[in-house]
Amino acid sequence: MKVLKFGGSSVGSAETIEKVVEIIREASASDTCAIVLSAMQGTTDALIEAGRSAERGDDGYIEILDGIRELHLTTIEKLFGDDTNHGVLDFVDSTSKELDNLCEGVRLVRELSPKTLDRILRFGELVSSRIVAAKLSDTGLENEYRDSRRLIRTDSNHGFAAVDFAETNRRICEYFEDTTAKLHIFPGFVASDSARYTTTLGRGGSDYTAAIIAAAAGADVLEIWTDVSGMMTADPRFVRNVRQISHITYREAMELSHFGAKVIYPPTIQPVMAKGIPVLVKNTFAPHDHGTMIEAESTAANDMIRGITSIDNITVLSLEGSGMVGIPGFSKRLFDALSRALINVILITQSSSEHSICVGIEEKHASKAKQAVDREFEFEINVGRIDPLKVESGFSILALVGDKMKEHTGVSGKMFSTLGHNGINIHAIAQGSSERNISAIIASKDVRKAVNTLHEEFFSDGNKQINVYIAGTGTVGGKLIEQLRTQHQHLSDELRLNIRVVGVANSKRALLADEGVDLNSYRSDMAAADDMTIGPFIDAIIGQNLRNSVFVDVTASPDVVETYPKLLAKSISVIACNKVAASSEYEKYSSLKNTAREFGANFFFETNVGAGLPVINTLNDLIRSGDQIKRIEAVLSGTLNFVFNNYDGSREFADVVRQAQKEGYTEPDPRLDLSGTDVARKILILAREAGYRIEMEDIENARFLPESCLAGSVDDFYSEMTRHEDHFRRLLDDAANRGLTLKYIASFDDGKAKVGLQSIGPEHNFANLSGKDNAVLFYTNRYFEQPLVIKGAGAGADVTAAGVFADIIRASRS
Ligand code: ADP
Ligand code: ASP
Ligand code: MG
Repeated sequence: MKVLKFGGSSVGSAETIEKVVEIIREASASDTCAIVLSAMQGTTDALIEAGRSAERGDDGYIEILDGIRELHLTTIEKLFGDDTNHGVLDFVDSTSKELDNLCEGVRLVRELSPKTLDRILRFGELVSSRIVAAKLSDTGLENEYRDSRRLIRTDSNHGFAAVDFAETNRRICEYFEDTTAKLHIFPGFVASDSARYTTTLGRGGSDYTAAIIAAAAGADVLEIWTDVSGMMTADPRFVRNVRQISHITYREAMELSHFGAKVIYPPTIQPVMAKGIPVLVKNTFAPHDHGTMIEAESTAANDMIRGITSIDNITVLSLEGSGMVGIPGFSKRLFDALSRALINVILITQSSSEHSICVGIEEKHASKAKQAVDREFEFEINVGRIDPLKVESGFSILALVGDKMKEHTGVSGKMFSTLGHNGINIHAIAQGSSERNISAIIASKDVRKAVNTLHEEFFSDGNKQINVYIAGTGTVGGKLIEQLRTQHQHLSDELRLNIRVVGVANSKRALLADEGVDLNSYRSDMAAADDMTIGPFIDAIIGQNLRNSVFVDVTASPDVVETYPKLLAKSISVIACNKVAASSEYEKYSSLKNTAREFGANFFFETNVGAGLPVINTLNDLIRSGDQIKRIEAVLSGTLNFVFNNYDGSREFADVVRQAQKEGYTEPDPRLDLSGTDVARKILILAREAGYRIEMEDIENARFLPESCLAGSVDDFYSEMTRHEDHFRRLLDDAANRGLTLKYIASFDDGKAKVGLQSIGPEHNFANLSGKDNAVLFYTNRYFEQPLVIKGAGAGADVTAAGVFADIIRASRS
């Protein structure tokens, strides 16, 4: 014999009931079948709401009951057309009347006892099962209908009744002995107590009904038909790339369901496990999918982790106090007090100092728990031996489940470091000695992120999702987005990185999209987007709370820099093309680096020096491997190198500068380049990265630009340069007369940094630097005769964007 249970969504409409009928037809062709049915989807919730509304004394319940009736009547009409011989309409009619009366009674007395609620709730399963039974008969599938209340005997704990198995099993066996029918229909969820009052088996309890019948009747298999193709590695509503679990052990399934995998009601497993009856979870909407087989021994691949789940609405109770140390009995009294108050404990941890015990319970019991425990420990609290019970809400439990975890070391390490990397704070941890489950209590706001990150870590095909936010859509920002767009597939194929841009902002507007900004149309989408300044943009990023988040600053704005600490403290990596942060006061620079370290985030700014050239990375590698920087000599301004390489007297100096700006080599404000400030910032950053504590004021800057060029606006700057053309001409001629060329050189030697224009001879290392090239010479302990040289294009949107891109990848992989 087979037992098949169909859930609420499977019987949610006439169309789905037709599918159910076909599944039953196929199953019953070769075997005796017992069918257990849930209420139509949403009915139980609606009935509860009707009861509650009546209890509040309002008449909203009338509309709710009308809605329920309407759903059932239209379903019946669609299934049977004009035919009314099935008798279901009469049944709906009489039960509806009874429902109306019950709710009216509740409204009058303003009281909804659990007993009355059970009487209201029974409507759902009693009617849905009648409809299916009638439809089966209608299509020629003879069946016997039996009200489960006559078979399943429980205690009188309404809403969550405990089954009297001896009596129940006897009745079920008797029923099957006495019948010759081959197809049996039962309503799920409902049962009765010894006084024959209707009881119910807990939300989701139809699964349990089916398991009880399967176990009592010694079925060969229990099939749970639902709206997903089996148990998944995580809740499919939370995680996109869930995998279907083909085989799972009873114990794993039990852990998963206890810890929130709603697909199967937790008590279901117990009766079938005791009898060794396999459970098959199947999809009514894709009946040929394999589904999940739950059995004693899993024959599946040796996956270390079988699934990840979570339960929301958890309150954490902490009992603490110096008086607890070494004295036995405290925990017993705590649990006794909770159990007397009928509070179920979901998770327990006790630190080995015995200073505190921490338990997780359902949030709805919080105040009841507080009362019960404080009363139990009244004396100890009064004399100050322990503190009043601490009650904190807003938590969730996250659980990693798998029988094979105990055979692998490092699972919990990987779990917690993954969470830590994403800034998810762990409030408490519990690991059963069976090592089948590792649970952590975390803030509910982090659950989605946590489940997704862990799922990716333990189950993904290796692809890692990186969520990128970009501030700045100017020349470099624009190029970066273009590169990210065209390289997307390559990154996924080669590096297993799925880099998704989830936010883009300029100084006026921002676009945010959890699912990814469309990189083809972001400019027009942005034009249509709401105004948003950087502050709200950062708040939105933090609010989105996405895993593996990286913030990219391709602006030159100090305001954006101000937001870095907030981002880093949320474990969001910061990639700065913007030089303001690394070249601000030393304290600020080092505190950003420390914050990044403390919160497991990255703070990279490779493009601050030499655009896309690997200058800072090389320097970092030298230092990390134990080398020491003695001296640095560098040409660090693509703009100045371009200007002096192209200024030959045939046209004005100001014209050459203008060309550099037009080609995108200069800073947004070209005076930063021409004044040498930009070069000073770069040598400052290199010196700092080399381990020196140095400030901008410590750098000697021998300016070649007349002071007046730096006063006023950018337009004034150009006209002043024209006015001083003679000055520039003289610089050029003086050098040329001596057979020398002009280079703007930065140096760092013995702790001192300086920048300035120099005339160099043809033998100089920098003599052949053409165009906008940069060059950096590192003289170190290891490279003391010949320096380590890094040379290449040191400005330009393409190479700079590529450098930022490389930083993003580095941040993603570490
Ligand atoms: P039914 O009405 O058939 O009893 P449920 O709603 O009780 O269905 O259970 C099925 C739902 O369980 C799925 O639609 C899915 O959203 C949810 N679910 C939660 N966790 C998991 C998981 N790990 N695997 C599969 N489904 C899950
Ligand atoms: N109808 C009940 C509920 O929604 C039982 C079930 O569907 O399993 O909880
Ligand atoms: Mg269910």
